[in-house]
Amino acid sequence: MTQSSDKVTSGGKGLEKIAKVLPDVSLEKDFEYIIPHELSELVTPGCRVKIPFSRREITGYVIEVTAEPEYPREKLKPIISFIARLIPENLMKLGNWISEYYCASRIHTIRSLLPAPIRNDKVKKKEESVYFIRKKVDVEKLIKKYDGDKRKSSRVLILNFLHTHGEASSAYIKKSTGAPSSMIKTMIDEEILNTKKITVERDPFLNEKVVPTQSLTLTDEQEESMKLILSCLDSGEKEVVLVQGVTGCGKTEIYLQAIDHCLAKGQQAIVLVPEISLTPQTTQRFRARFGEKVSVLHSRLGDGERYDQWMRIHEGKTSIVVGARSALFAPFENLGLIVVDEEHESSYKQDKAPRYHARDVAVVRASMEKCTVILGSATPSFESLSNVKKGKYKLSVLKKRADNALMPKMRLIDMRNEATKTGAPQIFSHDLVTAIRKQLEVGMQTILFLNRRGYATQMQCLKCGYVAKCNDCSSTYTFHRKMGSLSCHFCGGVLKAHVSCPECGDEEIRYSGLGTEKVESLCQGIFPHAKITRMDSDSMTRKDDHKNTLAAFQAGEYDILIGTQMIAKGLHFPKVTLVGVIFADLGLHIPDFRASERTFQLLTQVSGRSGRGAVEGEVLVQSYTPFHPALQYAMDVDMDNFYKEEIIGRQLMNFPPYRQMVMIHFRGSNEMLVQKNAEAFFAKIKPYLDQEDTLLPVVPCAVARIKTLYRFQISLLTTRIIRTSKLLRHMVFNLKFQKGVEVYIDVDPQSLF
Ligand code: ADP
Ligand code: ZN
Repeated sequence: MTQSSDKVTSGGKGLEKIAKVLPDVSLEKDFEYIIPHELSELVTPGCRVKIPFSRREITGYVIEVTAEPEYPREKLKPIISFIARLIPENLMKLGNWISEYYCASRIHTIRSLLPAPIRNDKVKKKEESVYFIRKKVDVEKLIKKYDGDKRKSSRVLILNFLHTHGEASSAYIKKSTGAPSSMIKTMIDEEILNTKKITVERDPFLNEKVVPTQSLTLTDEQEESMKLILSCLDSGEKEVVLVQGVTGCGKTEIYLQAIDHCLAKGQQAIVLVPEISLTPQTTQRFRARFGEKVSVLHSRLGDGERYDQWMRIHEGKTSIVVGARSALFAPFENLGLIVVDEEHESSYKQDKAPRYHARDVAVVRASMEKCTVILGSATPSFESLSNVKKGKYKLSVLKKRADNALMPKMRLIDMRNEATKTGAPQIFSHDLVTAIRKQLEVGMQTILFLNRRGYATQMQCLKCGYVAKCNDCSSTYTFHRKMGSLSCHFCGGVLKAHVSCPECGDEEIRYSGLGTEKVESLCQGIFPHAKITRMDSDSMTRKDDHKNTLAAFQAGEYDILIGTQMIAKGLHFPKVTLVGVIFADLGLHIPDFRASERTFQLLTQVSGRSGRGAVEGEVLVQSYTPFHPALQYAMDVDMDNFYKEEIIGRQLMNFPPYRQMVMIHFRGSNEMLVQKNAEAFFAKIKPYLDQEDTLLPVVPCAVARIKTLYRFQISLLTTRIIRTSKLLRHMVFNLKFQKGVEVYIDVDPQSLF
């Protein structure tokens, strides 16, 4: 490249340096390449380069630069070209940790550090032509000259406009002056105007204006919490603070002020929020406080938007990133704070390789970069609570709502009594119907929650017993009435619903099991005049559906909002004073040791949607097992006692947080073969484990077949996760499994299916 860089290396040591490059293909191996002298200044760990690779040219990531190769130097090929420096050293280090701990391949890990539009080289910066008046033109003289000449009136308009605006795109000139675009070209030919290209940012907030806000005066509880956080921020050490605060206690205000503190010190901050695209209100609050300093990263942005948002961070134009899981990999180099809001959310765990948990990786990044992590939640995960008990995390508790709003009144409704009144199971209890009716009368809003979409979860022929099942998965089809379709919620397969039984031709088909679509239609039946809308992944298919539906609900265009977990989080509607949970038992009686914890969390979260304005809210929870501890404690929002009771069972069974869990998955289309390989693997690892480790035998997964693949699993409970991960990773990447069998490891799994 430049002469000077040439001199530095060849003049000094003479021999070229060596780069270890990980090719961007599915391989776990890295290869050595010579760094040509002219690239020696550019090629550093974390950059993307073009390399020759078995007679092709492909790209790869430099993972290390060394003086001497392991292979004979004369056998190595040189790097073809340098593409870009993308991953700073701190993130390369974090990537290594992730790939080791989560038993992931290194290339999968590196890929996950970068958003796809940055990685795939397809998206570029967007350029636009702008027009401006040439320097030598005397504008006033020219306008005078044109004065009175009708044919020159467009020219005058354009001159006047550009004289005050400096430069503008042709579309903007046309829109503002009404002059035809062709006139711009004419004026360029006349050497009055000139043009140049500028980079324009694709702005995801183009039409979203926010009203700027100032720091609020903190409540006593917030003040106390802030004191602790500030002392951590200023310690220069890795610190983790768990902020356990009821919904509405003002955690977000705490995050905002903590970030402010970091900015003042010239540091940067990352805010992780689960499913950010569903909670536009959250992003707005950060933008209202920090304006242009905020970048947003999540998968619902367009490729161009994502590219530009990431580039802004890369180029040091922003100091705050708000985003989903992957925003944790924002390429900041002077990080002061990571906030993980709703830290208990299982969506922080990625469900494909690398299967990392963003909360836990946040803590690791913080310890590598000596910064602070705030974990915020009304219902912290058992893992985090136990880390507080062990003294690893600091704790700050907030019990009161910041705006003095009252906590909603929660009430359980025993559906077993309801059922007997009519003989058939009820979906709306008498009390819930009465409460909704009252809301409608006084013009207040209601949210109804059911964590299952569709109309009915089973379609059965009453004559021959036929049940519509997916051919490719061990699951029944869910009926979606509006679309007249059957769909499998595991593989996404969709087909037209049968009008008659495909087996016997009978038309008496029964739909059973409940989904949001049915709740909507029943609700409309009971309240024919109510304006009802529904939010779940079936009804929200286009990019702005969420935003639009929420905006319409906020504006009072609907009386009732029905939805899945999509509406459980973060929403803030002053007129919602009633929340109804249709069937609280739904996630409670499933074979997962976290079932109770999840139900408790979900109920608390849903209830937080009620009474966020001046009027006290009410939450009605319908259940067939009302005496279950998760429901009982949730009614009193008594996290501490719920934890105390629930944790006993965990300890007894050696479940997390007492041990860490690792799940080894096997899948393939030949059931016997998959099982055989799983059993062979089981026999291989057994001798390496400690007495402390519990290895559970090979079993079919709870959903035994998905997308035509049979699935088996081995679970392992261990006290020595680092050692175990290392061992398993080594085995999985080095053992030969039979063809057609795929193996992957899930460390700290969040889903046991
Ligand atoms: P959380 O994130 O804990 O659910 P929020 O930060 O959303 O709570 O706060 C709930 C409401 O209280 C918001 O409307 C917020 O503006 C308000 N609030 C927060 N802190 C204060 C404060 N110190 N003084 C007045 N209002 C506050
Ligand atoms: Zn299926």
